[in-house]
Amino acid sequence: MTDYNVIVIGAGPGGYVAAIRCAQLGMTTACVDKWLNSANKPSLGGTCLNVGCIPSKALLDSSHHYYFMQKHAAAHGIKCESLNIDISTMQARKAKIIKILTQGIASLFKKNKITQLAGIARLSGEKQVEITAHDGSKQTLTADNIIIASGSVPAKIPIAPIADNIVDSTGALAFDSIPKRLGIIGSGAIGLELGSVWSRLGSQVTILEALPEFLAIADRKIAAAAQRELKKQGLKIILGANVTATTAANNEVTINYKDKKGEQILIVDKLIVAVGRQPNTRNIRIPVNKHGFIPVDKHCQTAIPGIYAIGDVNGGAMLAHKASEEGMMVAERIAGQNSEMFYDIIPYIVYIWPEIAWVGKTEEQLKTESVEYKVGQFPFIASGRARAANETSGMVRIIADAKTDKILGVHIFGISASELIAEAVTAMALESSAEDLARTIHAHPTLSEAIHEAALDVEGRMIHG
Ligand code: FAD
Ligand code: AMP
Repeated sequence: MTDYNVIVIGAGPGGYVAAIRCAQLGMTTACVDKWLNSANKPSLGGTCLNVGCIPSKALLDSSHHYYFMQKHAAAHGIKCESLNIDISTMQARKAKIIKILTQGIASLFKKNKITQLAGIARLSGEKQVEITAHDGSKQTLTADNIIIASGSVPAKIPIAPIADNIVDSTGALAFDSIPKRLGIIGSGAIGLELGSVWSRLGSQVTILEALPEFLAIADRKIAAAAQRELKKQGLKIILGANVTATTAANNEVTINYKDKKGEQILIVDKLIVAVGRQPNTRNIRIPVNKHGFIPVDKHCQTAIPGIYAIGDVNGGAMLAHKASEEGMMVAERIAGQNSEMFYDIIPYIVYIWPEIAWVGKTEEQLKTESVEYKVGQFPFIASGRARAANETSGMVRIIADAKTDKILGVHIFGISASELIAEAVTAMALESSAEDLARTIHAHPTLSEAIHEAALDVEGRMIHG
């Protein structure tokens, strides 16, 4: 007889969702997490709630309001004589949001009768988890099933070790003043989002990206439009820039990098290292692949029966919603259900302004796969609702199979792209054709009409273009 049906290691969006779903399905469940907040108290929610998705969006929203008041309010006839930023209020608002949401998960655990354990977990034998509490005391618990959801941590590079003025994403979310000159290594989603926050608040931002292409994983037309927009907003993005050394001294950071013109130097007040994230398997004691991820099959089952790995720690898309969906799938499969993950239709979002969102394949991927496709495109400049909002940048692009008309990918750059993409995800989950979207009535005036028009354009019958 084991102590629990399931022990979940990690209470990020993968682990806490898995634990709740296990409990809903009638399993006795414990969830162990080692996270301590700045007050040294356990805090649930993992990277996402404490130092990831939520705090970054809180600062993105605050900085957007400031930027709007500064640059765009006048066009609406709104004048503001003296505009000020109070970073400590902005950071306190962020902290309050984190507190409410992390405590919310603790309440959900109580409601679902999940045992919450604070400490570092490791596999210590068959069906066994040893937990070292923060006071050093140890206990060993047994479970029929173990779900590892230990997430990831910011990737480090030896040429830019974290120091006073060299920070990772966690440090960059906690600046207590606005750096005058801000350097960022890496132009992935995290680098771009943090760059946007501080640029909107007044930093001169320079992003150094080793790859020659901007946002190589996104649709090329959308990436090009977003790059132009960020440039207009004042972010300097240098592509093909390989950082070779950094020196932090005299309250500034000197960055040496090489681009196609040769050796270059950039001097900044703060440097953010945003070169990706690495899986967190320290302490767990489970075999990992050469990149440190726990290998799993399509049902997140590891090589050891009864042990699953979900979320950032198993490779694939490092996204909160991917982690949560895997958590639900694993819980349901443990309960004997036949749940599956639809890995081909995971939405991706980059929360710059306006937002980038996509689901499914890009044209480039389809070309490599020799799939014939057709594209419908609608610019937000032709949308009445976008015009009314004064937010006319960007477009919707729908890619459909040339023969069957099945939607293969939807790519959006524009206002509220993060919300608009949900319709595309649903359409793809239902294996819809572009014609299905074209024949669906979209309310007027809404931004979603841009999706309708792009779907009409797949057959060359867009109305407002
Ligand atoms: P995590 O959230 O990393 O949680 C893992 C948990 O496991 C942690 O609480 C950790 O303390 C605990 N743990 C680890 N090892 C042990 C152990 N041995 N014992 C006990 N506990 C342990 N994703 C999005 O989808 N949308 C976004 O907008 C977004 N924005 C982001 C912004 C930033 C700045 C960052 C850094 C990330 C962002 N992400 C975003 C990524 C997202 O945060 C992760 O994909 C997500 O948190 C992964 O969830 P997870 O449950 O796998 O792991
Ligand atoms: P992501 O993994 O999407 O968060 O993006 C991280 C980005 O950092 C990638 O686009 C990498 O190419 C970039 N990167 C990694 N190392 C360096 C480096 N030394 N100099 C510049 N860019 C880098």
